Amino acid sequence: MARYTDSVCKLCRREKQKLFLKGQKCYSEKCPIEGRNYPPGQHGLNRRAKISEYGIQLREKQKIKRMYGLLETQFRNYFETANKSKGVTGENLIKVLERRLDNVVYRLGFAPSRKSARQLIKHRHVVVNDQSVDIPSYLLVAGDTIKIKEKSKKLDSIHDSLKRVKDNTYSWLSVDKASLSGTFLQIPERADVPLNANEQLVVELYSK
Ligand code: SF4
Repeated sequence: MARYTDSVCKLCRREKQKLFLKGQKCYSEKCPIEGRNYPPGQHGLNRRAKISEYGIQLREKQKIKRMYGLLETQFRNYFETANKSKGVTGENLIKVLERRLDNVVYRLGFAPSRKSARQLIKHRHVVVNDQSVDIPSYLLVAGDTIKIKEKSKKLDSIHDSLKRVKDNTYSWLSVDKASLSGTFLQIPERADVPLNANEQLVVELYSK
């Protein structure tokens, strides 16, 4: 499968905002956005070109896609799912992305980034409803329980990551740090998801 191998910090600088792709570094002063919040490249600082409507829509799509660590085809498939569902397409898109297991493991605080969460899942450290699941794109439904496997509970990376998380930050998730477990209580409303993005621009882009 295709993979993005260049510096992920460049992706944040391209979007001029933190996408939280690097784990602990994103929360430290070492984050390049803290000191160099302009697009990468030789002319990044001085680039002043007027951006077209299409360009604005494209940037927004790239931003959301990159935040969730997806490639174009996967992202487009989620859009098609959202488009076929009842309700507002843009909101449906965010809702389905939030149901991904890698996203939930990240939001529960068991991993410092969605990428790390994916690794945790692929290495079979995570169980859903007491069954081992190694598919990061697994979509959770209301009531699903997520746990770290007994033999994996000593992993330092999990405990380090949990230090940055306050108890039950998200209304649609509950987390028990002591037992390294959590519950996906319900599919969140768009307004509850702290995502600095305008998904309506993605709808406009894909509707052309
Ligand atoms: Fe890099 Fe994280 Fe900062 Fe983005 S938020 S620039 S990934 S350190």
